[in-house]
Amino acid sequence: MKIFISQFGHETNTFAADRTVEDRFHQYQWRFGQEILDASRGGNDYLSGMLAVADEMGAEIVPGFATFNVGGLITDEAYSTIKRNIVESLSNVVADIDGICLSLHGAAVSESIDDLELDLLKAIREITGPDMPIMATFDLHGNISADMVSLLTGVYNVKEYPHIDCAQAGKTAMSVLIRTIRGEISPCVAYRRIPMLVPCATASTFQEPAKGIKEYLKAYTEEHKLLGVSFFHGFPYADLPIAGASVIVNAEASQDQAEKAADELAAYIWDKRHAFDADYLSVSEAMDQALAIEGKPVVINETSDNPGGGTPADGTHLLREMLKRDIPGSCFGFIYDPEFVELAEKTGVGGRVSGLLGGKTDKIHGDPIEVKDAYVKLITDGTYFTANAVQGYGVKFSIGKTARIVIGNVDIIVGSMRFQTMDDRIFLLNGINIADYKIVALKSSQHFRAFFEKVSAGIVTADPPGIHTANFSQLNYRKLKHPIYPLDKS
Ligand SMILES: [Zn+2]
Repeated sequence: MKIFISQFGHETNTFAADRTVEDRFHQYQWRFGQEILDASRGGNDYLSGMLAVADEMGAEIVPGFATFNVGGLITDEAYSTIKRNIVESLSNVVADIDGICLSLHGAAVSESIDDLELDLLKAIREITGPDMPIMATFDLHGNISADMVSLLTGVYNVKEYPHIDCAQAGKTAMSVLIRTIRGEISPCVAYRRIPMLVPCATASTFQEPAKGIKEYLKAYTEEHKLLGVSFFHGFPYADLPIAGASVIVNAEASQDQAEKAADELAAYIWDKRHAFDADYLSVSEAMDQALAIEGKPVVINETSDNPGGGTPADGTHLLREMLKRDIPGSCFGFIYDPEFVELAEKTGVGGRVSGLLGGKTDKIHGDPIEVKDAYVKLITDGTYFTANAVQGYGVKFSIGKTARIVIGNVDIIVGSMRFQTMDDRIFLLNGINIADYKIVALKSSQHFRAFFEKVSAGIVTADPPGIHTANFSQLNYRKLKHPIYPLDKS
């Protein structure tokens, strides 16, 4: 048995001022054929899970193309290259394969196509015809359409946010695919849109209400002997008719069973919508709350500028407030500004650097900070080993060159790649032990929790203006389908 695999993942924030060009994909992942197998075997991602199960169940993998990133709209040029890479690698082998297992995200948008996964799946179906089994894994932030689902044999997403179970999603999809090809099962899929936008800031599955929903769906899946239930929170930072939550039921018994379960589960989730309502603390309120917490460190996460959701990562709202308060034992890890890193490097360690820091991508995330004579403490190459359950442990990773500068009582790490902080390794690399600090600020919505919940005295979420805010009324939606909760209250 031969199974073709490929990966195309992009979480597109359509409110972002800049575009995702091909180079941005290269920065994170751009792999062909054997390179995919070499990189993914034994790892923690979707493809790793698929490979592990294929090896276990005796299926041969035919690798195609894999790429992944997040950001603003994908340029038409970049998407057409990605599509060509997947389609050509599939065309070359289609006569020899028995099925396809794809790793998709579900929230990819290009300059001229709203639903890229649908576009890609149509192209794939043109090659395979309607009968070849095609399973796909998705991020739970996918904005899933009925048309997209109609082209798939099964839809399996991560259940956890932080996404610590990507490999498990890959394992489930591959195992159902292999059993389908063997003729042991014939899966049915049912889809329901749930007209609600779920704020990332309140949707951690480590906390209510998402925790309870996750547990209920798991119990329901087992009780009804379903192949799997995928609750999609959706990605609210996409101004599209298909943006929003959905639930997909994969059943074995019958289409009727899948449809009935989808109705019940969509109604169950819809009833919980009010529990996702967010607080939207200003930076000043967040600082007050953080300082009121005993012990250290207290983590403040700037959710509205979470680069994991396609934001600029150079927002200055929280950092500016920290500089104003000048609390002893404050650190910020990190703000994106490769120009400033270069400036600091030219100045040299031990020197004093002046220039504009951050706020260079758009007007929403705050003006640049006018840095004057900041002390350059350290320059690094930005490379470290990860220590979190989302990326995995001991994975070599780089955010590009970093500079650690000191302004008053605040240590600031400046990085050269947009990426959300998921563990303390970027701090350690820059000589900062967070246990010594009262305030540890970072840019992330939930993934940081997998590491920081265990090592912090408390966590406070700041939500200043930004394109990843939990306050949807601040975003200028034009194409979104109404009515939708919470914009149209009900
Ligand atoms: Zn996600």
